[in-house]
Amino acid sequence: MAAEREPEVEEMQVQEELEVHSEPKQDACDELESVLQSEEETVKRGAFPRQSRLLSTGHLQGRTESRPELGVFTRSSIGTFFQDRPLLKNPFLEDALLQKYLSRNLPPQILGTIRADLAQFGKRIVTELDVLGQQCEDSPPRLQHYDAWGCRIDRILTCPAWARMKEISAQEGLVAAGYERTYGEWSRVFQMSKIYLYSPSAGLYTCPLAMTDGAAKVIESLGMTWPLEKAFQRLTCRDPQRFWTSGQWMTERKGGSDVANGTETVALPQADGTYKLYGFKWFTSATDADMTLTLGRELDEEGFPKQGSKGLSLFYAEVRDEQGNLNGIEVQRLKDKLGTRQVPTAELLLDGLPAHRISSEGRGVASISSMLTITRIHNTVSAVAAMRRIIQLGREYAAKRFVFGKFLRDHALHVQTMARMEVETRGAFLLLMEVCQLLGREECGLTSELDCHLLRLLTPVAKLYTGKQAVAVVSEGLECFGGQGYMEDTGLPRMLRDAQVLSIWEGTTNVLSLDVLRCLAKSNGQVLEAFYSQVKIKLEAASGNQALASPVMAVDCALSKLGQFVQVAARGATSYLELAARDLSCSLARIYMGALLIENATWEGASDSDIYAATRWCEQDLCPVVNNKDHGWYNPETPDKDAMLVYEVSPHHGQSMAGE
Ligand SMILES: Cc1cc2nc3c(=O)[nH]c(=O)nc-3n(C[C@H](O)[C@H](O)[C@H](O)COP(=O)(O)OP(=O)(O)OC[C@H]3O[C@@H](n4cnc5c(N)ncnc54)[C@H](O)[C@@H]3O)c2cc1C
Repeated sequence: MAAEREPEVEEMQVQEELEVHSEPKQDACDELESVLQSEEETVKRGAFPRQSRLLSTGHLQGRTESRPELGVFTRSSIGTFFQDRPLLKNPFLEDALLQKYLSRNLPPQILGTIRADLAQFGKRIVTELDVLGQQCEDSPPRLQHYDAWGCRIDRILTCPAWARMKEISAQEGLVAAGYERTYGEWSRVFQMSKIYLYSPSAGLYTCPLAMTDGAAKVIESLGMTWPLEKAFQRLTCRDPQRFWTSGQWMTERKGGSDVANGTETVALPQADGTYKLYGFKWFTSATDADMTLTLGRELDEEGFPKQGSKGLSLFYAEVRDEQGNLNGIEVQRLKDKLGTRQVPTAELLLDGLPAHRISSEGRGVASISSMLTITRIHNTVSAVAAMRRIIQLGREYAAKRFVFGKFLRDHALHVQTMARMEVETRGAFLLLMEVCQLLGREECGLTSELDCHLLRLLTPVAKLYTGKQAVAVVSEGLECFGGQGYMEDTGLPRMLRDAQVLSIWEGTTNVLSLDVLRCLAKSNGQVLEAFYSQVKIKLEAASGNQALASPVMAVDCALSKLGQFVQVAARGATSYLELAARDLSCSLARIYMGALLIENATWEGASDSDIYAATRWCEQDLCPVVNNKDHGWYNPETPDKDAMLVYEVSPHHGQSMAGE
C-alpha cells in the first residue's frame, strides 16, 4: 500500500515550483492571490463556486492559464470548476427574426397587443412551463390494465405536469386563438407564434393540441350539427375545466400512409342512426384525449366492408362515458418509442366504440384532409421551434464555454457552424409564417384562388422540408455542447429524439412528396402558377437592391430551371415524375425559402444579417431536381440500378465460410 502523503505540504511545493516557472507579473500575482484566498475560503466552507474564477481572472489579465490547486481534488473534493449551464431566456425577446417578422407584417393597431402577449408568454415559458415540460419527460405515461380487484380498467396514468399543460393550453388559448379570430387574418400567425415559443418547453403537449386544432378545423368546415357543436365549443374554449383535446386515429397495422387500403375498421350501423366501430388502431397519440376523429368502413348491401378510399367514412367518437370509463375501447399497450415519450401513444382495440358518422358516406379521406392541413402546419411549427431553441441555447453556451484560450463564441469556426444552422432556421421560419399567414387569410375569406393553391402546395412542402431540417439542425446543435449535448440530464438529447418523429408522423417525406405531385396534377398545374407568381413578386420587389442582386439572380435562375423541368417532366411517364417527387419538393422549398429571405431582407427595417442570410441561403443548389435529372436519376433504367445497389448480395451469401 502506498504511504499516506501529506497533501498540504506536497501541494505547496508544487505551487512554488509553478510560480518559479511561470513568473507571473506582480499585479496579476496579487490579484490571483486574493482570488485564491477567497477560493480557499470557499472550499473550506464546503461551498464550491460554480465556475472557476481563476480562469476568468487570468483571462482578464491577458493570462489564460490557471494555477492548479491540487488540494481541491482530494477525497470528496472534485475541483472548483463547474461549467455554467446555458440558460433559457425569454424565447420571444431572444428571437430577433420573429420580432422583425411581426413588425414588418402586422398592422400597428394589433402589433403592440400581440407583442405584449408573446413577451408575457415567453416569460411564463421560462419561469413555469419549461420545468413542467421536463417533468413530462421525466414521468412518462403508464398504462394500468387492471385495478386491485382484477377488473380491466385500461387507465392511462399521466403525470400532474401533463394535466397542468392541458389547463395552461386552455388558459393561453393555444387552440382557441385560431378560432376566436380576434386579430382577423393575423389570428393564425398569432396562435402559431405562441405555439412556436411554447413547443420546445411543452413536454410534447403540442401533439394533442395539434390534433385538437385539426379536429376543430374539420368540424368547422363540415358545419356544426349536433353533436359536433358541443365538441367544437369544448375544443376551442379557454376554460380549463371544459377544454377538450382530440385524437386522430387513422393508422392501422396495414397502413399509416396507405389508409385507403390499410383500414380494416368497420362501422356497424345502429337502429338510432349512430354506429359502432370495430377494428384495431395501431398508433393513437395522446390517447388520453376526450374525443377522436377516426376512419371506418361502411358495409355494402351484402354486409361486406366497402373497399378502397371510397369505402371510408369519417366518424366522431367520445372516448369515455360519463363515468370516465372507456367507451368500447381496450388499450392493448403503450408504444415504446425513441422520442415523444411524454405522449401516451397506444394501440387500441375498438370493440363497439359508439360513433357518429360526420362525413358523407365514402368521403372520409376527403373530409379529414383539413385536419391534416392543420396538423402538418403544427408539425412545421414544432420543427422550426426545435431549431430555434437549440440555437438560442447554443449561442448562450458559446458565450460561457471557454476552450483553447477563448470563449466558443470567439472561435470563428464554431460560429460558422452556428451561422449555418441559423440560415436554415431563418428560411424555415419564414416559410412557416407564410403558410400561417395564408391559412389565416383563407379562414377570414380573404384569399384569392391563387392563394388557396399556394396554401395547398406549401403545406406539405413546408412539413416535409422542415422535418428533415430539424433533425439535421438539432443534431448539429447537440454537437455544439460537446459531450454535454449527449447527456440526458441536460435535457438536450430529448430534443433530437423528439425531432426525429417530425419527418415520420403526419406523412413521411416520400408520401408528402407524392402529395405534392397529386396537388400539381389535380389543379392542372395551377398550384405551380401560384408558386411562380408569388416568387416573382418577391424578387421584383428586391430588384433595385444591389446588395441582393446575387441571391435574386440565383432564385430567378432556379425558378426558370424548375419551370423547364416541370414542362418536360409533365409530358413524360408518371413514373418519371414519381422518381423526381422528393427532389422536386425539395427544390420548391429551397426556391420559396430563398424568395422569402430576399423579401425579408428588402424591408426597410432589415439588418445586414438579413441580407447575409439571404445571400448564404441562395448559394446552395436551389434546384436539386434539375441537377439530379442531368445525372440521370429519374431515367427509366435507374430504378433497376437503385435496386441492384440496395439489394446487392454478398459474394459469400449462402455459402459457409472456412472455419465457420
Ligand atoms: C410517435 C408516433 C405517433 C403516432 N401517432 C399517430 C396518431 O395519433 N394517429 C395516427 O393515425 N397515426 C399516428 N402515427 C402513425 C404515423 O402517422 C405513421 O406511422 C406514418 O404516417 C407512416 O405510416 P406507416 O407507419 O404505415 O409507414 P409506411 O407507409 O409503411 O412507410 C414506410 C416507408 O415507406 C415509404 N413509402 C410509403 N409509401 C411510399 C410510396 N408510395 N412511395 C415511396 N415511398 C413510400 C415511407 O416514406 C416510409 O419511409 C404515429 C407514429 C408515431 C411514430
